Amino acid sequence: MKTKSATSAKVNGARNGHTVSPKARKMLINGQWVAALSGETFETFDPATGEVICKIAAGDKADIDLAVKAARAAFETGPWRRLTASERGRMIWKLADLLEKNLEEFARLESLDNGKPLGVARAADVPLAVDLFRYMAGWTTKIHGRTFPISVPYAPGALFHAYTQREPVGVVGQIIPWNFPLLMAAWKLGPALAAGCTVVLKPAEQTPLSALRLGELIQEAGFPEGVVNIVTGLGETAGAALAGHPGVDKIAFTGSTEVGKIIVRAAANDLKKVSLELGGKSPNIILEDADLETAIPGAASAIFFNHGQCCCAGSRLYVHKKHFNKVVEGVAAAAAKIKVGPGHLPDTEMGPLVSEEQLNRVMGFLQSGQAEGAKSMAGGGRHGDRGYFVQPTVLVNTKPGMKVLEEEIFGPVVCAVPFTDANDVLAAANNNIYGLAAAVWTRDVSKAHRLASQLRAGTVWVNCYNIFDAALPFGGYKQSGWGREMGEEALQLYTETKAVCVRL
Ligand code: NAP
Ligand code: MG
Repeated sequence: MKTKSATSAKVNGARNGHTVSPKARKMLINGQWVAALSGETFETFDPATGEVICKIAAGDKADIDLAVKAARAAFETGPWRRLTASERGRMIWKLADLLEKNLEEFARLESLDNGKPLGVARAADVPLAVDLFRYMAGWTTKIHGRTFPISVPYAPGALFHAYTQREPVGVVGQIIPWNFPLLMAAWKLGPALAAGCTVVLKPAEQTPLSALRLGELIQEAGFPEGVVNIVTGLGETAGAALAGHPGVDKIAFTGSTEVGKIIVRAAANDLKKVSLELGGKSPNIILEDADLETAIPGAASAIFFNHGQCCCAGSRLYVHKKHFNKVVEGVAAAAAKIKVGPGHLPDTEMGPLVSEEQLNRVMGFLQSGQAEGAKSMAGGGRHGDRGYFVQPTVLVNTKPGMKVLEEEIFGPVVCAVPFTDANDVLAAANNNIYGLAAAVWTRDVSKAHRLASQLRAGTVWVNCYNIFDAALPFGGYKQSGWGREMGEEALQLYTETKAVCVRL
């Protein structure tokens, strides 16, 4: 980690039409933009070139402690808790408006820091974040309890008025990944704020810029100080301090299953509430009667969208034997046609992976696949020698037990596997530690629904892939996580239910 603090206003990314506000290199704690108490910084990189964009405050345990105290004060005694539900909703709606107004800036920032194509950030990341905030703004006035006609056998003749109310869970720690930096911040902040919680958010070290800029909009929208605190820093220091902090009531995490388990252990000390959105190895099944005209491009985009850096990427492609060659050729041809390049160029369809670490990880998987006998029908290696680009890759000849087929690669690599029997493919699809998403391509509505109910996954897409909506809950079975993000379900993660019983 570099220790020199950022003073220069020049930002490398500015050449791409990006501007990084000077505040964005500091952290937001209790309404103030501050450096780390230690004075330490770390660098965030442009993954297309490996060049440093700017330095970011490296918060650690001490900064997390300040942020948690600020969030606690904002929760217990600040004006936030005195706002009406409607006022809270209007504030979240205003944040959505501000984000929408600054869509272009956010898209550029996201593309610069993460590497994704600018067009994708414009069309997906930012609008989905705007929608999520609007959707959650609407929920503030609809979080309510119920009344119950209770019968108490040992209190004959007594009358009671019994009801529940739903209260914010309190101070929430949120740790997010780098694959959709702004959108993941929105998925976390939206329901927490709708429920009336206060938050300490830790963005991923690879992609802190959009969350920090969002912090400025949060202030502009009028959220009282301490309601949202944003502490940048490394997972092992800032993240671990947040997950283990006794002043945090609930921790919400998105990232690897490996770190998810570390979070659970850290939270076990004081049994804070935990929700987890973790990895996946999602099966994408093309049945014999599928419409190949849509299934083939669908299978390609299921894996190649966001360079395969999606927890729900369709990375295991099961194809009925009859169509196997045609589908593999089609997906391989689509892979070969993808224009790989820096995210800011208008014709780029796939950018670099987010970091050198991720490049090495994906290359390691490709080497292990090749060593174990997998064959590349497209790609199979690094793209160019500058930045962190990987060729979109289609592997065949993979066998159960091979790492490429079992483990999450988190890169643009799909394993295509033929099948003949629908029961076999169901068993193969479910035979994985993950259960985040799955898809089925078929013209038979009955088969579609039957498989949808038999697949052990939190989301099943039929004749489509990667369709998201703020109203649709998203999360995993098995080791893909605990709890659901988005939709009404997300509010469950941020509320406690209190039963009140009054003797009349
Ligand atoms: P990761 O380590 O799980 O990172 C996710 C978040 O957790 C980041 O904010 C990270 O901080 C933080 N973190 C790391 N160690 C921590 C700890 N001990 N305590 C608390 N927080 C901690 O993911 P990664 O290393 O960036 O990527 C590795 C793999 O994870 C990927 O290849 C992919 O398989 C998977 N992944 C999944 C998702 C998903 O959406 N499910 C997203 C990203 C990655 P720093 O980044 O600052 O270290
Ligand atoms: Mg990490």
